[in-house]
Amino acid sequence: MAKIIVLIGAPGAGKGTQARLLNERRGIPQISTGDMFRDMKNSDTEIAREVQAIMASGKLVPDEVTYAMVRDRTSRLDTAGCYVLDGYPRTAVQAGQLEELAKEQGKEIQAIEVDVPKEELMKRLTGRRSCQECGEIYNIYSKPPKVEGICDFHPDAHLEHRADDYEEKVKVRLETYDELTKPLLEYYEKTRRLKKVDGTGEFEMIYAELEKLI
Ligand code: AMP
Repeated sequence: MAKIIVLIGAPGAGKGTQARLLNERRGIPQISTGDMFRDMKNSDTEIAREVQAIMASGKLVPDEVTYAMVRDRTSRLDTAGCYVLDGYPRTAVQAGQLEELAKEQGKEIQAIEVDVPKEELMKRLTGRRSCQECGEIYNIYSKPPKVEGICDFHPDAHLEHRADDYEEKVKVRLETYDELTKPLLEYYEKTRRLKKVDGTGEFEMIYAELEKLI
């Protein structure tokens, strides 16, 4: 049976990086709700403006809005087989909606926790910068660009510090994770669909561990 691979981890745990690798190396489509919401930045609709305001605050977009987007995205041809969800579900309601969707699509859910200690997450998030041209991700503490504020590959591209990666917002995001998303680990554990990878260390090692689990 085709799988829906659900990567669960706090913001900054590296879900996006790992999902991107699964996409590049195994051809498994990566569905990132955070990326999809960020892409709405340029559309001038009321809902897009609301989403941007919610994201900037570090809080979660309403479940119904998020589900409608996931449902729509996973109805395309490329997701007829397995796909990876990176950043969804994030609440108990969303987990319930995903059960329904999986049933309709005839797929099984495999949750994988990407575990990283909180102190490390803070550094990863507040230090994160990304190239607006190619999406390359840097970290001012652990992986700085050669020239401060400038992408190594795109000298004209300014490195972006995401509005929700400022310290105050990061705190809200981590609290939201603890309160609403962390309980999902127990839910998937109880239904015997949870596996776990250690999210600290080299991304290649984490990927190797992850690949073994899927
Ligand atoms: P991320 O890049 O995954 O950290 O997501 C960035 C922001 O997008 C989050 O802080 C939320 O505001 C919003 N978001 C992403 N995924 C979800 C989701 N599953 N449910 C609600 N809001 C989400």
